[in-house]
Amino acid sequence: MKAINTANITHDQQPESSWQHLLSHCFSDPVSLAKFLQLEADQLNFSAAASSQFSLKVPLPYAMRMQKGDSRDPLLLQVLPDPRELEYFPGFVTDPLQEADANHLTGLIHKYQNRVLLMLSGACAINCRYCFRRHFPYDDNKIGSQQWQNILQYIENDNSIEEVIFSGGDPLATSDQRLDKFITQLGKIKHLQRLRIHSRLPVVIPQRITDHLCQILQTTRLQTVLVIHANHANEFDHQVSAALAKLQAAKVTVLNQAVLLKGINDSVESQKRLHTASFAAGALPYYLFVLDPVQGAAHFDISDSQAQQLIRELQRQLPGYLLPRLAREIPGMPHKTLLAI
Ligand SMILES: *Cc1c(COP(=O)(O)O)cnc(C)c1O
Ligand code: SF4
Repeated sequence: MKAINTANITHDQQPESSWQHLLSHCFSDPVSLAKFLQLEADQLNFSAAASSQFSLKVPLPYAMRMQKGDSRDPLLLQVLPDPRELEYFPGFVTDPLQEADANHLTGLIHKYQNRVLLMLSGACAINCRYCFRRHFPYDDNKIGSQQWQNILQYIENDNSIEEVIFSGGDPLATSDQRLDKFITQLGKIKHLQRLRIHSRLPVVIPQRITDHLCQILQTTRLQTVLVIHANHANEFDHQVSAALAKLQAAKVTVLNQAVLLKGINDSVESQKRLHTASFAAGALPYYLFVLDPVQGAAHFDISDSQAQQLIRELQRQLPGYLLPRLAREIPGMPHKTLLAI
C-alpha cells in the first residue's frame, strides 16, 4: 500500500477520486496522518508495535471527517494503533467468536437458520482497532472459482436457505464485475429471497457506491439489504448521504450497525447524535453491539450494566425506530443475543 503524499492535498482539491484509487492510497504511516490532521507526530498516541500486529489503515475520505488539531478525535481513536493494545487482559482472545468451528466450507459460515454468510473478501478499506477480524485467518478462506462453485452447490442443495449475506473483511472491496457475477448466479437459485451486504465502505469511501453497483443491486430479483457500519455521528457527511440516497433509489434497504466503544460513543448524547445522524443520512439503526472480547481491544470495553443503562436512557429520549437492538455475539448461539434492558 502506498502512503499518501499530503503535499497534494488541500481542502478543495483531492487527488484521484475513484474508489479504487482511494482504496489503494490509504494513510498507512502516522507521520503523514499527523501532518494531514495538523498535529505533531508525537501528539498521536501511536504504537509502532501495535501497528506491526494490525497495521494503520485509513482512507482519505474518512480522515477528512476528523477534526483538525484534535488528537482525541473519535474517528481517529477508532483507527490509531494504541500502546494499550499490547497489554494482556484475561478473557480477551484472538478468536472470540470461535468462527473457525462453523467454517464448514471455504468462505462460508452457516451458523444461523435460513442465512449463510460468505466471506467475499479478506481486505478491508479501513483497519478498526476493536475488530475481531484483526486475527482472523483470511488467507485460508479465499473464494476462488472452485470454492465459488462449491458454495453455489451448498446453497442450491439446502432449500432452507433464504438469505445470503456478503461479509468479509469488506465485500465491497471486490470489483463490481465480481459482485455482478456472484449476484446473477445467486439470483438463479429459486429458494433464495434476500441478499444482504455488510460493508463499512459506503461510510469510509462513499465513492464506492457507483452507478454500476446500484444498477446491479436494483436489477437482481433478490430483495437487497445493505448494513453499513458507523459508530459516531461525525462519520456521516454529505457524500455519505448522497451514496445512501443512490442506494435507496435502487430499492436497497439501508441499516446501520455500530459497536459500543469506551471513549468514542459511550455517552447518551453521542449515541443520540449517532442514530439521529444515521437516520438523517438514510440508514435505520439496526444493532448496537457490545465489544467482542478480542485481544488488543480491552481498552474499548464497557460493562454490560453500563451499556444497559445507556440504552434505557436512550429509549426515553429517542423514537422507537431510532433505538438500536443492544446485542452481543456468543459463540455457539444460533443467533445474536439481545441484552435485556
Ligand atoms: C451476524 C450473523 C448473521 C446475521 O444475523 P442477523 O441477526 O440476521 O443480522 C448471520 N450469520 C452469521 C454467521 C453471523 O455472524
Ligand atoms: S471488518 Fe469492519 S470493523 Fe472490522 S476492520 Fe474491517 S471494516 Fe473495520
